[in-house]
Amino acid sequence: MTAKLQVMKFGGTSVGNGECIARAAEIIAAAAREGSVVAVVSAMSGVTNRLVETARRSEQGDANAGNELADILRQQHLQAIETLIQGQDSRERLVEQTEQIINEVRDLCRGSSLLRELTPRTLDAISSVGERLSARLLAGALSELGLKAVAVEATEVIVTDNAHGQAEPLMTGTRERASARLQPLLSEGTIPVVTGFIGATAAGMLTTLGRGGSDYSATILGAALDASEVIIWTDVDGVLTADPRLVSEARTLREISDNEAAELAYFGAKVLHPKTLRPVAEAGIPVWIRNSFAPERHGTKITATGHPTARGVKAITAISDVTLITVGGRGIVGLPGVAAKTFTAAANADANVLLISQSSSGNDICFIINSTDAAQTVEKLRQAFAQDLAHQQVEHIIVNPEICIVAVVGDRMRGLPGIAGRTFSALGRRNINIIAIAQGSSEYNVSLVVDAGMMGEAVQWLHREFGLERRASRFESVEAADAVASL
Ligand code: ADP
Ligand code: ASP
Ligand code: MG
Repeated sequence: MTAKLQVMKFGGTSVGNGECIARAAEIIAAAAREGSVVAVVSAMSGVTNRLVETARRSEQGDANAGNELADILRQQHLQAIETLIQGQDSRERLVEQTEQIINEVRDLCRGSSLLRELTPRTLDAISSVGERLSARLLAGALSELGLKAVAVEATEVIVTDNAHGQAEPLMTGTRERASARLQPLLSEGTIPVVTGFIGATAAGMLTTLGRGGSDYSATILGAALDASEVIIWTDVDGVLTADPRLVSEARTLREISDNEAAELAYFGAKVLHPKTLRPVAEAGIPVWIRNSFAPERHGTKITATGHPTARGVKAITAISDVTLITVGGRGIVGLPGVAAKTFTAAANADANVLLISQSSSGNDICFIINSTDAAQTVEKLRQAFAQDLAHQQVEHIIVNPEICIVAVVGDRMRGLPGIAGRTFSALGRRNINIIAIAQGSSEYNVSLVVDAGMMGEAVQWLHREFGLERRASRFESVEAADAVASL
């Protein structure tokens, strides 16, 4: 790769209405003056939630859900077209394409309501519609600026396995298809606007990469095309020391490492899909998180090593909508195979185990999974331990959905003594009860489980305990660098 190639992803709020799409198009146009750009686009904000909700209503037999959806989608997208496209011909063409896609999804919902069935395949077909609509809007907006642009369906570009709803890319096929479909466009100076979130199996069946997966689409394409960098344009200034919705004094981090970013994403920093760094980390392609509403700001750069003089603790994150399951009883001390049985049951329920903790006496094994997987996991556990429960070797399987995980993250915490101690005593001083603790062997994080109702407070106190609201060392946070620059 010689010429500069940027992959730029725009999230839901960054294409939330006609004005936002116009702003996104300006950002792309400025970048296109310096090199090639591949745009990756999310659905307009709120659209995917609405699609999924309508699919579920249809499955319940609600024959009107699809019509209501079609009305709302039509209104939202036609209004954006009105704002964005001046020429009558191009406007009519775009309206026609939009109507066609909306009719398709209405028909899919109707089919689902008649059959009272929603297969993972159909759900993917329905939930992918938001990106198919928004990609055409952004391509239209770019054409309005006099640029050559075309909407590209990711089904033609990203090859995945057939795990509907959580598909994984197959990189060899993706590289081939991405070069075949996108390189000719780039060579002739056309900007491809690719639908985020979507892929297709080698046989061409549409799949989706999981909620929030457009970030992943961007880095998959970045890796497949050997891009110079990937820029994720969103509605905050970058990766912050905490979710700004929980901590108003959170600060933007100037540079963080791949490991830190992955850990933050895994433990709840919604700004990045948890798998985002996987495709690009090895190739050393930098990823930026930037604010599409303030494109002049620096943003956060994610690199292999992160900031050289950064302090130990970088950020505090939290995940809600998780459930703690405890398998225990005095009889399990020394009972062989309990842990193996427990986690096999979780795996059989397709549950992703987020955190594991065992009491030192060995009386209890606790683990945390997403709440959506809880019922199925408990059923599998009851089957696996049926005998042991009958003989009271295992006394209880307890389910607690009223909890959350709070994590203290930073890759220079490694070898720094006392971080765990400070974490626990900071919460102890505030009477926040810690239900369970875990430290990953990577030492990039200390995570703990507290009552769901204490999530905000726990994050705020830990943010304060580690002084994250204060100006960091030279250049570590964007504000610190700006302060030095202005001296
Ligand atoms: P997009 O639609 O652009 O993909 P998301 O809503 O998925 O945007 O992610 C951005 C949101 O992530 C922010 O608005 C913010 O509330 C949330 N967030 C959570 N933790 C963090 C964090 N540590 N840094 C920045 N944003 C965070
Ligand atoms: N539109 C999809 C979602 O809401 C993907 C994304 O926005 O990243 O999950
Ligand atoms: Mg997102």
